[in-house]
Amino acid sequence: MSLLGSNSAVRLVMLGPPGAGKGTQAERFARAHGIPRISTGDILRETVLAGSEMGRAAREVMDAGGLVGDDIMTGIVTERLSRPDVGAGFVLEGFPRTVPQAMALDGLIDRTAPLVVVDIEVPEDVLVKRLQIRKICGTCGWTAPPGTTVCAKCGGSLITRTDDHEVVVRQRLALYGRTTQPIVDYYESRNTFRSVDGDQTEGSVAADLSAAVASVLGGTR
Ligand SMILES: [Zn+2]
Repeated sequence: MSLLGSNSAVRLVMLGPPGAGKGTQAERFARAHGIPRISTGDILRETVLAGSEMGRAAREVMDAGGLVGDDIMTGIVTERLSRPDVGAGFVLEGFPRTVPQAMALDGLIDRTAPLVVVDIEVPEDVLVKRLQIRKICGTCGWTAPPGTTVCAKCGGSLITRTDDHEVVVRQRLALYGRTTQPIVDYYESRNTFRSVDGDQTEGSVAADLSAAVASVLGGTR
């Protein structure tokens, strides 16, 4: 049986820098379409906790302070995409992070439905402002994604932290740009690639994201 063989499936890869609201939008889109949001941060934690051979390999790398490499990440995502709940599609967030991972993903899925890739674009100065104004839980310290009003861990109220230094934030964004640009280059010549303006309200970004996905699916069926 081939993976993800339904031609009505919505298979979405979300790209975007830290602070672009990617996680919030991925969650919202997934909920609206009744498909799983697959965040590599989450499945990496699950895999490590499950204690499988792959989980142990990932844990060794992370314990040594390293970044989990292409083989392990691709293995973990392959395992996740083989579960039955992705039959109607998925929103993938945090993968691919490298061109070899993007190539592996192309090899994983069949061609009966397109892989939609959406890049959420936000000007750097806007991201710097957003990332400097972080909301954390006043009780447990949980870092809240944009748009959150109460702590998802303990229900505590959120307080604003403004001590993230601009230079650190800009370094983080520069690192993202260097590592992600090759992936954008890999996808952007495809007719299934779209950019969405992320410098809008959460609702407007969500509407543009839906329209972008619809334009791809409408144009390729
Ligand atoms: Zn809390």
